[in-house]
Amino acid sequence: MALGSWLTPDPSGIYLPAADAWIDPSKPVARAIITHGHADHARGGHGEVWATPGTLAIMAARYGPQNGRPVDYGESVTLGPIEVGFVPAGHVLGSAQVVLDHDGERIVVSGDYKRRPDPTCTPFQPVKCDVFITEATFGLPVFRHPETTDEIDKLLSALRTEPERCVLVGAYALGKAQRVIAELRGMGFDDPIYIHGALQALCDLYAQHGVALGELRPATGLPKKELEGRIILCPPGALNDRWSRRLPDPITAMASGWMRVRQRARQRNVELPLILSDHADWDELTRTIEELAPREVWVTHGREDALVHWCRLRQIRARALDLSGFEDEDD
Ligand SMILES: [Zn+2]
Ligand SMILES: [Zn+2]
Repeated sequence: MALGSWLTPDPSGIYLPAADAWIDPSKPVARAIITHGHADHARGGHGEVWATPGTLAIMAARYGPQNGRPVDYGESVTLGPIEVGFVPAGHVLGSAQVVLDHDGERIVVSGDYKRRPDPTCTPFQPVKCDVFITEATFGLPVFRHPETTDEIDKLLSALRTEPERCVLVGAYALGKAQRVIAELRGMGFDDPIYIHGALQALCDLYAQHGVALGELRPATGLPKKELEGRIILCPPGALNDRWSRRLPDPITAMASGWMRVRQRARQRNVELPLILSDHADWDELTRTIEELAPREVWVTHGREDALVHWCRLRQIRARALDLSGFEDEDD
């Protein structure tokens, strides 16, 4: 039997026939195992949802009450004949790799992950396995993320240089916004940070889960004067809309791994691109595979070809799974 023959990659997700369970399915299913709360992995409308308490809280905030089956990091459950465990992926609050044990084989599904420190979530935990099913969002050697502190420094120095303006940072509502805030706090920035209303619920949720975000104030309905010299966060869609026109001459910034691609920054009229990613870059992807030394690597989504090629050059069997529906725009 081929390795991992008890697991079926399908365009709608990874299916475990013996457990009648899907991992991160893109369609509603009776039993879903969810790696994390981003919308391309966690969709509404499932029957049972097996996930970490953090992910279930995020799903409830976005989709309403879930038929949730919480599993903490380090714990596992038995679904049919398959042992299913959750370990930290270091991507966003609650994000998990799914560890599957069956037939003497161990398969780890990474979900989205990164290896860099992130004050808003538990660090990635490497788990040795026979098959590592990995993402490859930034799976090209050109993608090497810079130091986080250098990017946050750019933000702080823009604020210092032009104190009569404000810095408006576009950041996705789940994960990136809270990370930008927590990284600023980690560098000693104690001023109030102003946020667009669309970020409030998830910032509250992070704070309830023990992530220290300091003083946050609503950015809407304030006189321009009060926002001069301030950092304001909004979802990327609000960077150039009517809402942002009421701000004092904003320096438009955006925090995303995609800011590495100049064209993407230009498309959004971003003056200050901040390359801040919640995904593994090329070095993190390859270092992780070297560390785990799996017998096979399966690539779920992203730029699969280069990583598959890299594995084959090192005599590691590798293949692309061609799952659909994963965008990872929300980095
Ligand atoms: Zn994600
Ligand atoms: Zn993803």
